[in-house]
Amino acid sequence: MKTQLVKIEEERINPGAIEKAGEIIKAGGLVAFPTETVYGLGGDALNPASSKKIYAAKGRPSDNPLIVHIAEMEDLSRIVRRIPEAACRLARWYWPGPLTMIFEKADCIPRETTGGLETVAVRMPSNRIARALIRAAGGYIAAPSANRSGRPSPTVARYVIEDLDGRVDMIIDGGEAQIGLESTIIDLTEDTPVILRPGYITEEALKEVLESVDTDAALMESGTDKPPKAPGMKYRHYAPKGNLTIVEGQPGQVIEYINEQIRKHKKAGRKTGVIATDETAGSYYADSIKNAGQRQDEAQIASCIFRILREFDDEGIEVIYAEGFDSQGLGCAIMNRLLKAAGHQVIRLPEEDEIKD
Ligand code: AMP
Ligand code: MG
Repeated sequence: MKTQLVKIEEERINPGAIEKAGEIIKAGGLVAFPTETVYGLGGDALNPASSKKIYAAKGRPSDNPLIVHIAEMEDLSRIVRRIPEAACRLARWYWPGPLTMIFEKADCIPRETTGGLETVAVRMPSNRIARALIRAAGGYIAAPSANRSGRPSPTVARYVIEDLDGRVDMIIDGGEAQIGLESTIIDLTEDTPVILRPGYITEEALKEVLESVDTDAALMESGTDKPPKAPGMKYRHYAPKGNLTIVEGQPGQVIEYINEQIRKHKKAGRKTGVIATDETAGSYYADSIKNAGQRQDEAQIASCIFRILREFDDEGIEVIYAEGFDSQGLGCAIMNRLLKAAGHQVIRLPEEDEIKD
């Protein structure tokens, strides 16, 4: 398949190009497009054949459901059985934006889109190109992240092209995704809403709108008996080609430990990389040192984490160490993605007074 590449600026959207992309989706084709979270791989959510094509293009297991993207609040009632009061409140605060809500699905949503589930995930993105495309495509676009299954989610069109050129009809290059991490997913089909995937909208932010919120217990751990409630969370994900390990502990110890490992790997002829922060980036000896920004600036760290993982691949880095981050607030989403990218390979260094005891 020949993939058309189209550049569109969010501030100056070319209606002709959007029209053309919308026609492709209405005819059952696939278009990759920018959103504020990451790039999406879009097809008609109401067409089972389109959803099948999405799974095939990504190489994604077909039990991993797709998120349906809408552009207007009025369009929600057609695809869900009921809209709980909590959903109305959340939509008022966080839509359009990086929040996905799970509802009981209406009959018009095919099981191919929901991975066989009776529930459907819905999000209203804020990116203007995405919204214009959803309208042009008839109102409902099913879109997972636009990467081959298992790879880091793409935040720029270059990485979409790398993964999907020749596998989709069109790729829209709309610049860099601002948030850089996928949406928060919240399940509203239970009595108490449950966070199934942490994201830019934090638990604290959700609690400002809802009385109580639970978190899926299987999220941050590995090897628990219970499978996560979002089927996609059980797969290894976001993985760079190099072997990634997260190192947690006091900053000085972490630097010392990582440098020691790097020395060994370099001796063995392996190319090494480190994910560091402003505070520590100057202290490492690795071949490639990526500075994710100031440690307190979690939004900045979140926005560049997937790009950094892809850059290591571009540079042929074989062994990667990442400093751990605090799992509060947005740090929860950052650590969730890093842990999955590392296949839960974490070194926890004992505190110095623990060593003395
Ligand atoms: P992605 O589109 O790559 O960001 O992945 C979508 C995520 O949403 C996956 O982790 C899915 O498992 C999750 N998801 C989509 N629909 C549902 C649903 N109906 N119930 C639970 N999780 C869902
Ligand atoms: Mg994904």
